[in-house]
Amino acid sequence: MRYIYDLDLNELKEYLMSAGEPKYRAGQVFSHLHKGYDVSEIPNVPKSVRENLEAEFITGLPKIVESQTSKIDGTRKLLLELHDGAFIECVLLQAEYGDTVCVSTQVGCKMGCKFCASGREGFIRNLSSGEILAQVIIANKLKVRSEKDESLRIVMMGSGEPLDNFDNVRKFFELVGAKDGLFIGSRNISLSTVGLPDRIRDFADLGGGVNLCISLHASNDKIRQSIMPTAKKYPIADIVSAARYFFDKTGRRVIFEYSLIEGVNSLPEHALELSKLMRGFPCHVNLISLNPTGVELSPPSREIAMRFMDTLIKSGVSCTFRKSKGQDIDGACGMLKLRKKGGT
Ligand code: SAH
Repeated sequence: MRYIYDLDLNELKEYLMSAGEPKYRAGQVFSHLHKGYDVSEIPNVPKSVRENLEAEFITGLPKIVESQTSKIDGTRKLLLELHDGAFIECVLLQAEYGDTVCVSTQVGCKMGCKFCASGREGFIRNLSSGEILAQVIIANKLKVRSEKDESLRIVMMGSGEPLDNFDNVRKFFELVGAKDGLFIGSRNISLSTVGLPDRIRDFADLGGGVNLCISLHASNDKIRQSIMPTAKKYPIADIVSAARYFFDKTGRRVIFEYSLIEGVNSLPEHALELSKLMRGFPCHVNLISLNPTGVELSPPSREIAMRFMDTLIKSGVSCTFRKSKGQDIDGACGMLKLRKKGGT
């Protein structure tokens, strides 16, 4: 059985029309589902139609089984149970300019980055397009809208590697951008990847305007290989060349993410090496300090982090240092974990 949130408007139309319903019915159902109504609650749709939908499809948003709010910055982490009993986490972040939801794209992760908790318990399955969308629907329902009613931003930076689930992620972009649905524009979406060059090119070919972030975290292959298994297969030069392809194709600046790790990638020589790599390339470097995830790696002091940033800026590299949010609830980058039934 298909998950009802996996269907785009045309697919829903096809089903409803084949069941003898008028053309406009699909729009009614689609827009209410995406606003967060349960099938049983959709107004102005006959009960028989709602019952048929419930019989024909898996319905219902994932259940919120746990919700934690950061005492420091208000970041909220949700533990969601999917229809097959799998768990995922998603995070709601607040800023003056509006809210951001950080969504997961897989249950667990195969990439195995040493510093990240998301793949430590392995990989279970891909999320479907509708399961990624459902996290946004839930966040949209919970979000406290400001007077200006800014649109919700989406970062695909939760558990999982989005480009390892390419087809579902591509359909997710269509669903979340649908005019009759949430209508969230691609400029409000950022996708973060561990750096899979061929998939980055495929992503660029979509030409959709979604922002691309690449988790670099090292200024040379040796360091990268020591913390990210995928670096053995994909050298930095290939990733940078794919990033250039993305820029040439879309005209959009790539963001390189760099989590500073004490004694590993945060020395002055690394800053110089990184600036050589980035110089002249239309990109931005987003620095953060490593979030603790229970491994023998720690963040550097603030002084070291600031010195690293200064070196990049003096070399003409566009760069910002971002403070982590949601650390106290294990909701910051790399802290989302695979949770199993009966586990912790
Ligand atoms: N698989 C994607 C998205 C997942 S995580 C990717 O690799 O980009 C989102 C970001 O958090 C990535 O840049 C990831 O490398 C980073 N990250 C993971 N663990 C971290 C940690 N402990 N501290 C800081 N950043 C971390």
